[in-house]
Amino acid sequence: MEYAEYEARRKRALLNSKLQGLDGLLISYMADVRYLCGFSGSSGMVLLVPRAGYFLTDFRYREQAALEVAGLRTVICDNGFGEALREILERRGRGGSVNAKRIGFDPKTMTCAELSELRRRLRGAAVLKPLKTELQELRARKSRGEVALIRKALKVAEASFQEALRHIGRETSERELALQVDFAARRRGAEGASFETIVASGRRGALVHARPSGKRLAGAVVIDWGVVYGGYNTDCTRTLGFGRVPAGLARAHRLVLEAREKALAATRAGVKACEVDRAAREVVEKAGYGSAFGHGLGHGVGLEVHERPHLGPRSRDVLEEGMVFTIEPGIYLPGVGGVRVEDMVLVTAHGAEVLATLPHSLDPSHY
Ligand code: ZN
Ligand code: ZN
Repeated sequence: MEYAEYEARRKRALLNSKLQGLDGLLISYMADVRYLCGFSGSSGMVLLVPRAGYFLTDFRYREQAALEVAGLRTVICDNGFGEALREILERRGRGGSVNAKRIGFDPKTMTCAELSELRRRLRGAAVLKPLKTELQELRARKSRGEVALIRKALKVAEASFQEALRHIGRETSERELALQVDFAARRRGAEGASFETIVASGRRGALVHARPSGKRLAGAVVIDWGVVYGGYNTDCTRTLGFGRVPAGLARAHRLVLEAREKALAATRAGVKACEVDRAAREVVEKAGYGSAFGHGLGHGVGLEVHERPHLGPRSRDVLEEGMVFTIEPGIYLPGVGGVRVEDMVLVTAHGAEVLATLPHSLDPSHY
C-alpha cells in the first residue's frame, strides 16, 4: 500500500472524530491499526491528533515498526501504553497550541478492561469518548489499491484450490484435501489461511462449519477456504460432486446458483444489504427450502475475513461503491448433506462485479 493512502485514511478518520466534536482518536484494534499505518504485528496503538500521529508499541516491535509504520512517530513504551499516552497528551497540552483533550475510542473493539485502565491513567490529561463512526465503517469501502490486493489474494486462493484438486485420488479424505489447499496457498506466498479450511463430504455437508475429518470424499462435498495475502483475506466456497450426488442436493445446487444470480442482479450502490439477502432468500424459500438456508447471505471481506457490511435479513447496512463482500447462499438438509456456493463481489458504479473467476460446476474436472 502506498504512503499517500495511509495518510488519506488517517485524515478521514480524524475528520470523522472532529465532526463528532473530538480532538483526536485512539485506536487499539489491530486490524484498524494496520489500516491506519501498515503495522502488521500483534501489539500497538495509534493516537491521532490534529497535525500529529503516534504509533505506540513495545520493544519487541521496534524493528518491525521502523520497517512498516508509515508517517507516524513511533513511541516504544517501557511502562505500558497508558503512561506513554499520558506523557504525549500532557506535553501537547502544555504546548497550548493544540488542545487534545477529548479523545475518541472505538466502543466495539476496545475492551472494558483496556478502557478503565486507560481512563485511570489519563485522568486529568484527556477524556475518552466513544466514537460514533468506527473505522470498520470506513474500512468497508475499499480503495483501488485494496481491490488490486484482494484480486491478487484471490488468484492465490483459486490457484491453490485448483492445484489441490489435481492431487485427489480414490482414497483422499476431507482432511487431506484441506491440507493440500493450505499447503498450496502457503507455497504461493499466502501468509496463512483466513480461517480453518472447511471440507465437508456427503452427509457432513449439512454441518455449516464442519471441521475436516478422515472421511473419504463422496457425494456432494462442500469446500470453503480462504487465504491471507498482503494482509487481505479471501473467502470462497464450491460444492463438488464425487461419485453419485443425491438428486435433492443436485437440485439444491441449481437453486443456490439461481439465488446467487438474483443477489448479483440486486446488488448496486444505494441498495440496502437486507434487500440483496431477500432477493436470494426468496428463490430458496419459493422452492420450499427456506428453513434450510439458516445463515446470512454474506459479509464484507478485507483486512478481516468477516467485516462490514453484513448481508442478512436484519442488516441495516447500505451498499456503497467500493464495498467488497461475499454472496454465499447455501442449503443444508440434515441427514442428506449440504450445498453452498460463495463468491466475492465488488460494488462498482454499474452494479456487482464478481471478483472470483472459478466456475461453479459440481464436476471437479471442470476446474
Ligand atoms: Zn466461506
Ligand atoms: Zn463467507
